[in-house]
Amino acid sequence: MKNSFDTSTVKKATLHEHIEGTVTPEMAVKLANRHQVKLPEGFIMAEGQYDKNDFPNGRYAYNESEFGEFITTYDTAAALMKTPQDYYDVTKDYLTKNANAGGVYVEMILSPWHMSTTKNPETGKDQLDAKKHAQMMGAITKAVEECKEEYGIETRFIATGVRNMGKEAVMEVAKFVHDNPHPLITGFGIAGDERAGEFDDFADALALAKASGLKLAVHAGEIRGPKSISDAIRLGASRVGHGVSAVQDDQVMKDLAEKKIMVEVCPTSNRILVNDLKGDLANHPARKLYDAGIQISINPDDAGIFGTNTAKEHRVSNNAFGFTKAEMTDITLCAVDCSFADVKTKKQVKENIYKSMSAEDRKEMAELAANAKNPILKERLDSRVKESERVAKKMRIEEMKGKALKSSKSSNLALAKRLKDNKSR
Ligand SMILES: [Zn+2]
Repeated sequence: MKNSFDTSTVKKATLHEHIEGTVTPEMAVKLANRHQVKLPEGFIMAEGQYDKNDFPNGRYAYNESEFGEFITTYDTAAALMKTPQDYYDVTKDYLTKNANAGGVYVEMILSPWHMSTTKNPETGKDQLDAKKHAQMMGAITKAVEECKEEYGIETRFIATGVRNMGKEAVMEVAKFVHDNPHPLITGFGIAGDERAGEFDDFADALALAKASGLKLAVHAGEIRGPKSISDAIRLGASRVGHGVSAVQDDQVMKDLAEKKIMVEVCPTSNRILVNDLKGDLANHPARKLYDAGIQISINPDDAGIFGTNTAKEHRVSNNAFGFTKAEMTDITLCAVDCSFADVKTKKQVKENIYKSMSAEDRKEMAELAANAKNPILKERLDSRVKESERVAKKMRIEEMKGKALKSSKSSNLALAKRLKDNKSR
């Protein structure tokens, strides 16, 4: 494959990952044992039935071409997450693996309707419960803080409404996060079956979330056409999840590039779930989106259920779309730029990415910028080159200062020793 390189050497940022979808088969077994739940027969493939190198944390046994089987697997794994301890374990497991694979920033999608409900004793119906939500967020925050301390990885969350539950249920989530703000929840989203309802049905919920200070990242253009993407943009989305159908409409492509709306690309998920791709990433528009100047990120969507992770999605993207190391570094920087972290955090994370670049990496970035044809892409890459040079210069100055300090320290020591020797003479 042309442009093939060792993708483990590139820093990675993940923006599209459903927390319940990160449950690996190994974790599913652990949670099932904890809650004394019997997993369905043949739920997980036996060892030897799959390539352990490709699926290091086990493999679910569903048939990839059966959407219903995928949903059942997702729901079964998600239902195993019940307690704050479960959310702590799953978050810690995911972030640790992500950080060890070069992850520097992660955003995860939370569904309060899944995570933060209790049964109303009178009606017997599920209701959003602020107390339970606080307990769950407490456990998740503990995992996030530990991983930041251990690996330096930054994490934020997007609270999501599920569109197939109806517009009232989505509005309830928007109200719930408005009334129960949390410093790590910085975004609001819409997920679930894209065929249910129109974006305008959720306009009020999106407006309330925005007024609560949350940025918007919604699933669009995965199953439905480009109109769903332009609707999402019109209603204030900063990012669209999947956005595969954008290529069907030149105006949508133009809007995404010019308005700097990110498309969260999820290669393996798209290969399995987007019928238009016919199971082949050769049909995926990621390369076209990137070359049109649109900011993209590379994501697992449901790392555990798809038997993938951010590292694997980068290998897949290198293979399928031929993204070079410089392009992937730009993609990571785009993800941080379009993340829902505060300005200071973004700046810090980006500085660390630039610091990780070698002289060779900077040279490659400069060549990429020089050869870029799309003006929006070129402008962005030129700014990457400038920044990478600024950080490299800063590092050189710091290094020189460090050396000077060291030598002045050692000459001070020598002077002190001479004085001491003179005294004792
Ligand atoms: Zn998703």
